[in-house]
Amino acid sequence: MATEIKAKLTFPGGVHPPEYKEITEDCAIEVMPAPRQLAVLLGQHIGAICKPMVARRDKVRAGQVVGDSDAFVSAPLHSPVSGTVKEIALQSHPVLGRAPAVLIETDIQAEAGKQPCPDRFNKDFDERQYSCEKICESARRGGLAGMGGAGFPTRVKIEPNPRLPKHLLIINGCECEPFITCDYRLMLEWTWQVLAGIRLAARAAQIEQIKIGIEDNKPRAIHAMQQAVDQSGQRGRIEVVPVRTKYPQGGERQLIRSLLGKNVPSGGIPPMIGLCVLNVATCAALAEAVVCDAPLTHRVVTVTGNAIVRPGNYYVPIGAAVADLIDFCGGLTERAAKVVLGGPMMGFAIADLSTPITKTSGALTFLSQEMITRAKYDRRVTPCIRCGRCLTVCPENLNPTKIAHAVKKNRLDLADQYYMSACIECGCCSYICPANIELTGYIKTGKILQARTKKKMPE
Ligand code: SF4
Ligand code: SF4
Repeated sequence: MATEIKAKLTFPGGVHPPEYKEITEDCAIEVMPAPRQLAVLLGQHIGAICKPMVARRDKVRAGQVVGDSDAFVSAPLHSPVSGTVKEIALQSHPVLGRAPAVLIETDIQAEAGKQPCPDRFNKDFDERQYSCEKICESARRGGLAGMGGAGFPTRVKIEPNPRLPKHLLIINGCECEPFITCDYRLMLEWTWQVLAGIRLAARAAQIEQIKIGIEDNKPRAIHAMQQAVDQSGQRGRIEVVPVRTKYPQGGERQLIRSLLGKNVPSGGIPPMIGLCVLNVATCAALAEAVVCDAPLTHRVVTVTGNAIVRPGNYYVPIGAAVADLIDFCGGLTERAAKVVLGGPMMGFAIADLSTPITKTSGALTFLSQEMITRAKYDRRVTPCIRCGRCLTVCPENLNPTKIAHAVKKNRLDLADQYYMSACIECGCCSYICPANIELTGYIKTGKILQARTKKKMPE
């Protein structure tokens, strides 16, 4: 048992919601068999949406490209199974409502599911056998996109850019959102694979120094990563840094603030201050793409909450429907009242159980009404009492109530003046509001309306 760790490093603002990690933190990663049908959404990352590269009735192999784009900021999509393309059709999308997807019927012999390959990695791994170009190319060909957040294509992140040289690689192992434990299990169980991916990313980005930030409520993960760093002779170059447990510590900007005391300019990105930030799941996927030549077709998803029969951490084919995961996990309990893709703070409540898992889906949370009320995710709304708590907790130093009010009045110009675009949609303001005003909901709506006005998002 790892000893308790008390970290000091933190950021201003934030909240401490109940963690509920105990539901799945001791559940080892389990392979989910491939369902009869998968829906690979053509838009799963930031950047250009892919075009289908297959047609109805085409036979596809596991790992074959089924969607791609010529755009620089994009990532191809691959079939997780061998099977037959049933059709290209609109499918429920967690953010866009509906979006085109490649529907694939799985071959009978492919139903057992893909096995992960963490045993391919150990302390003797040497990233120097792979060139920078090979690593970047594998990230691009493997369709890698950030698996802990918005899904920014990994190749674009790690490729050296002479205009924005990077000097520090930050690895995000915080997983601050309540309930979710998929990254925690990766650090515990696939430690060598995660470390190999970190070293490959640093080599590709030509960065010497690396910091791995992990919240201090995960002493076993801190210990596992530290031990791996020591045994592979990387101490000095790679530093495992415990940070204080507080939501949203795993926000890229918040982690940078905690580790370095620096701010990324508002509306800017970490390379502007010489940093590259990657999540641990993305590093594990990078190692598999480079060493095993395997594209990103599966990911670990935490299935959790008090309204699912068999919660756990599952290795799931991308494109599996929420309903397939529910079946695999023994079904819902009678008390199920809400299904959230992601965690309760930043996730999206979904009504359509055919919604597929994407590269960025780290969790599915099934909540009973009792837990929704107890954990303060849903209560009766009353008028604002001007207490100012939403301002105090905002980690981006915004005035959430003013932005929300501007959106409510359809004054997007005013919301812009209050820096609506700087909101990271963490949900702290809604969580803390004693009047239970859905401030984040208003701000998210305002951002969607703004993007539609600027034609950055489909109607
Ligand atoms: S305004 Fe945005 S960044 Fe600030 S607390 Fe609310 S959701 Fe988080
Ligand atoms: S926390 Fe809620 S009640 Fe308090 S000022 Fe903000 S919106 Fe108003």
